Amino acid sequence: MRQRKLWMFFVVLLLAVPLCSQAQPNLAELKKEAMHAVDARQVFTQQVVDQIFSYAELGFQEFETSRFVTDILEKNGFKVERGVAGVPTAWVATYGSGKPVIAFITDIDCIPRASQKPGVAYHDPIIEGAPGHGEGHNSGQAVNVTAALVLREMMEKHRIAGTLKVFPGVAEELLGTKAFYVRAELFKDVDIVLGSHVNDSLGTGYGQTFSPQGLVSVQYYFHGRAAHAAGAPWDGRSALDAVELMDVGWNFRREHLRLAQRSHYVIINGGDQPNVVPSEAGVWYYFRELDYPHIKDLYELGNTMAQAATMMTGTTVSRRIVGSAWPGNFSKFVAEVQQKNIEVVGMPQWSEADQTLAKALQKEIGAKVDGLKVKVDELKAPSPETEAGGSDDVGDISWNVPMVYLRYPANIPNTPGHSWVDAVAMATPIAHKGSTAGAKVQALTALDFLLSPDLVKQAWDYFHTVQTKDMKYTPLIGPDDQPAIEFNKEKMDKFRPEMKKYYYDPAKYKTYLEQLGIQYPTVKK
Ligand SMILES: [Zn+2]
Repeated sequence: MRQRKLWMFFVVLLLAVPLCSQAQPNLAELKKEAMHAVDARQVFTQQVVDQIFSYAELGFQEFETSRFVTDILEKNGFKVERGVAGVPTAWVATYGSGKPVIAFITDIDCIPRASQKPGVAYHDPIIEGAPGHGEGHNSGQAVNVTAALVLREMMEKHRIAGTLKVFPGVAEELLGTKAFYVRAELFKDVDIVLGSHVNDSLGTGYGQTFSPQGLVSVQYYFHGRAAHAAGAPWDGRSALDAVELMDVGWNFRREHLRLAQRSHYVIINGGDQPNVVPSEAGVWYYFRELDYPHIKDLYELGNTMAQAATMMTGTTVSRRIVGSAWPGNFSKFVAEVQQKNIEVVGMPQWSEADQTLAKALQKEIGAKVDGLKVKVDELKAPSPETEAGGSDDVGDISWNVPMVYLRYPANIPNTPGHSWVDAVAMATPIAHKGSTAGAKVQALTALDFLLSPDLVKQAWDYFHTVQTKDMKYTPLIGPDDQPAIEFNKEKMDKFRPEMKKYYYDPAKYKTYLEQLGIQYPTVKK
């Protein structure tokens, strides 16, 4: 009798095993399902890419873009909180509950004067002088939101526990918000951050590079006294003199700074007209260095120069931090998990037309003509050599949560960046396919962490014991600094009425190329 009971028990157990695996498929099966689900959303992904391309909004003015993306997320069951961290165009969209909390972030702002017809391999603006997606940030939300919607559906269907959060990178070109996001504790409960950024390749990275990627962006406003420049110059105190003397002082001192620093400035206000001694003048500096202590030193030296200039000119100075960034410090542990997914997803299948556009553009700008990349990047250790490189304020997040920054292949190689050239591919099949590839990697990597609490724990162990062992995060902004939310308003107001005529209408046109009546590709004969 007892034996029979035992036997029955084994039969039940044997039956239960396949039943269980039917309720919760294994990771490999879930990943396959996610890949199919992303592919099934190719039209959606294309529409998001094209829509945001047509909005082309400068940093802090991303109102249409934010409305568009948050509407989609809300309709799909995400709870949206708007205006977070004191930034009107910032938001966080949340789905699910409990641990782990996986966050996605990617930029949404564009570049001044980069207006360009997509699919055209020479300079041909949609609107002369208008802003345009001359970096390709229009594709980021297509990547992250496609992945988030697929994950939400799968979490519901397979009862996968956890929380998804989607963030926009507002005003990344001004390095204007992430330090404020961190200060507002938006990442306090987040376990893993999966960032994504447009590129010409599919890859990821980790660690800190030996390039001056951290910075303080600060504006100095000098205040003098106006007077008739010929009638009573002795009564005047020139704020412009102070700007010039600060710049001269800085340029002499530059010789005696570390080789690792990069600093540059533009005069934002040089007075009104020559016969009025300028009572107000301003200069905008970027102080870049390798790490927090050196950035801080460089910035303090800048303040000293400004102070010294006031002493020489009898003026006063005030200043405002308008942006800041820690150098990136991405997680090797998470990058290794992500790299496996990159290799599974692989590069998109480029068409003849895609390659023709890429090569024609490369030829047009005098760059190396080698077309689009066909192989994914290997995961490499950060280079110990001094490298060129810009800054990105996601750096601040990477020092607070284990984070990786996926590069997805939505743009053409060998371009200069930050110009109309980099807008050419950004509402074409190159950007559409590249965004689909990016969305797959994001979804697969999220599944890895959603299904394995142990991986999350290991990422945090690595974060504490290796990644941030020797340096802890201290914000470069002070407690009273505020985001520069009024920036770019005038520029955007000037162009928006004209740009509205060119907003993409997916109800009428399959693609933005079709709406603009552009033959793909359009190249010089
Ligand atoms: Zn960017």
